[in-house]
Amino acid sequence: MSWSHKKRSASVIIPFLVLILGLAVTFATWNFYSKFLPAGGGGEVDFLSEIFKRYVLLFGIVASFALFAIILSLLTSRRRAVELAEVMTSSLKEKTRELETTEKKVEKEDKQLNAILSSMGEGLIAVSKEGTIMLMNQSAQALLGVSAGEVSGKKIEEILKLSKEDKLLTKEEYPVYQAMKGNDIARLYFYDNASIIDSTGRKFPTVLSAISILGKDESEGVAVIIVFRDVSLEKAVDEAKTEFVSLAAHQLRMPLTAIRWYAEMLLAGDVGELNKDQHSYLDEIYESNKRMVKLVNELLNVSRIRLGTFKIDPKAVDLAKATDTILSELQPNISKKEMIIVKNYNYPENFNADPNLLDVILENLISNAVKYTPDKGTITITFEERNGLLITVSDTGYGIPKAAYSKIFSQLYRADNIKGKDVEGTGLGLYMVKAIVDESGGSISFSSEENKGTSFHVQFPKSGMKKREGFKSLS
Ligand code: ADP
Repeated sequence: MSWSHKKRSASVIIPFLVLILGLAVTFATWNFYSKFLPAGGGGEVDFLSEIFKRYVLLFGIVASFALFAIILSLLTSRRRAVELAEVMTSSLKEKTRELETTEKKVEKEDKQLNAILSSMGEGLIAVSKEGTIMLMNQSAQALLGVSAGEVSGKKIEEILKLSKEDKLLTKEEYPVYQAMKGNDIARLYFYDNASIIDSTGRKFPTVLSAISILGKDESEGVAVIIVFRDVSLEKAVDEAKTEFVSLAAHQLRMPLTAIRWYAEMLLAGDVGELNKDQHSYLDEIYESNKRMVKLVNELLNVSRIRLGTFKIDPKAVDLAKATDTILSELQPNISKKEMIIVKNYNYPENFNADPNLLDVILENLISNAVKYTPDKGTITITFEERNGLLITVSDTGYGIPKAAYSKIFSQLYRADNIKGKDVEGTGLGLYMVKAIVDESGGSISFSSEENKGTSFHVQFPKSGMKKREGFKSLS
């Protein structure tokens, strides 16, 4: 028999025992009074005895049953209370066990997270909505030359000093605040010349991402996670590569120029008449040489852009004359494709630009429009006065697919829609154009619709291109 069963039987037996005992005492009392108290003698004492005898039985029975009911209900309530307490105790034990398991799990995860954070090679900083540092891992402390104690509660811009192109970033330019504004990721790359200045004043190139978790996994008040690393080694390797390309391109220019001269001499008949086949093969050599010279020049320009060594030397330029020279170089292709050229040269005066750099911009935009427009298409070149100079080169060509928009100014990128069209290219032109426009204080944008056409817009302030000292001009 179980413990609770035993208790249930006891709560029934005890009231019954009390009832039987009560009834027995009642009858014994009544019996006693019936036997020993005088009956029917008359007088006041007899009268009282008679009442007592009659009512003692009734009172005894009622009292016994009342006592029975009270004890029964008391014992039942007690039993229920005990049962309830048992249920509560067991569920409390269960909950305690669950809590202990969860606590252990959280502790384990906490330890794992700490191990990951402290063994990470990258610096990691968690920042609040207000820009206050909440957490900084060991690598971040080592890279910045600070300790966790001295940075806690400080603003991120006080501890993480960032510079781009040798200029300290303002609070608005900080990737942390930009990420928060856009609820997104803001990045700094070392080819943007992004650097960190540590607590001792040492400057090192960095790649940094600030990831906003506002409204997503936001916890413990953390709003942005910053991850960064020292890329001094990568930068040195990259510079060595760029220098190698620059050197190789430079060395290639001499023999290529010699080939061009000799091909020109042969084509001009300087050493005797050529037959038809010889002329056509030599033409091929001459055209291939031109393409190679263009590629070598592009490689040289790109390396100079990447090394940040090209100079910007603005002077008054006649836009119409510069554009017509480029158009005459492209004329064989324009005629072959029977293209229409519309010229809206509406800028009223000469423009203050570096002639070489303006040539690179116009040559790339116009030759792209020619290359990426099918036969009989129209190309419109517009110069107008709008917040300075606005150059627009529009075509009615293949257009740029939406998926390519974000990569169009990247090095070596060519969109998928033109890959099967047998149009030559290196994917370096727009990269160069954007770098030149950005460096000289302008901006570039485009609009395009596939199979309808593309327009590139270049905007410069009225004052013209910004002057910059440098070792070499671009060609
Ligand atoms: P490429 O040497 O390939 O022309 P660019 O850097 O000048 O290199 O251009 C990069 C890519 O942008 C091109 O390969 C092409 O996919 C796309 N593109 C540039 N200009 C145009 C245009 N006017 N119309 C369509 N696509 C263009």
